[in-house]
Amino acid sequence: MRAVRYLGPGQPFSLQTIPCPQPSPGQVRVKLKACGMCHTELHFRDGLLDLGCRDVTMGHEVAGVIEALGEGVNPHRLGERVMVYYYEGCGVCEYCRIGDEHLCPTVKAQPGFFTDGGYADYMVVRATNCIVVPDHVSLEEIAPMACAGTTAVHAGKKADIKPGEWVVIHGTGGVGLALLQYARHVGGRVIAIDRNENRLELALALGAEHSLNATGTEDVTARVLALTGGAHVVFELVGRESTMQASLDMLRRRGRYVIVGYSADSLKVHPIDLIVRELRLMGSVGSTLQDAHDIVELVGRGAIRSFVDSTIALENFEQGLGILEQGHAQGRIVIRFDQTSL
Ligand SMILES: [Zn+2]
Ligand SMILES: [Zn+2]
Repeated sequence: MRAVRYLGPGQPFSLQTIPCPQPSPGQVRVKLKACGMCHTELHFRDGLLDLGCRDVTMGHEVAGVIEALGEGVNPHRLGERVMVYYYEGCGVCEYCRIGDEHLCPTVKAQPGFFTDGGYADYMVVRATNCIVVPDHVSLEEIAPMACAGTTAVHAGKKADIKPGEWVVIHGTGGVGLALLQYARHVGGRVIAIDRNENRLELALALGAEHSLNATGTEDVTARVLALTGGAHVVFELVGRESTMQASLDMLRRRGRYVIVGYSADSLKVHPIDLIVRELRLMGSVGSTLQDAHDIVELVGRGAIRSFVDSTIALENFEQGLGILEQGHAQGRIVIRFDQTSL
């Protein structure tokens, strides 16, 4: 089968032919139908994220059809259309015991990170990681939600947004657009900040009350403070030094700063800035299996829409990464594996 492999930091990915994997007990083999392309892949390629693994198939935004079962898996699962949750914890540590597999220090598998993922014709994964997708939701639209949507739900829950609170979303890519809709769904009032006018228009269409263009002459921090008196929650999805400073400056007292996105820049903050406003800083990484079930349910009943900018064939993955890198995509670039109905 075909697979796009990560060989090491700073090296281009390589399209190779490798053996088709066999499901172990408790696992299934998924025939890929769609796989979203995430900035994580750029971070791997550029060496910003290095988990020490080499020669592994990229891709963690997976949707497909279960086409082979390992020992012990319920035969009814054959043929299911599924979205794949991409963590498999050890199952016994203090984090796994409460369902926080994304924090497991000895995680067993993480497709597209250090075990083989979905930039390939097939992948194997624990059966319980495969979440059934409602018939009216296409696999092409659910694939990006496996990361962008689950990450948004996880960060949104972490921020504990209350009805009427001002929520600023700094960066409206795949995660940002899902987070915007989640924040609206739980009653937040949203301000979207981005440098791309088309995405800002989309943010308004999705219910943001204001959208601010960070490229303009306008001081977005001053504008947020004027509109809100200080945001209750700011989600950082860009992670540049300038955006991180602005995010901190626009929070009100006891504001929550949730960091989801990063670049090569460091967060610089003097403790007094945190102390006198009693700010709360929190990181949010990945998602739980429950978050993954939640996003499928939210998309299924139309509370969150998934945006696919364009689809490409697996062999054109370089082109997809290029579009991602330019940062102009409205929603995700999705690899589509065949032309049959999804
Ligand atoms: Zn991702
Ligand atoms: Zn564990």
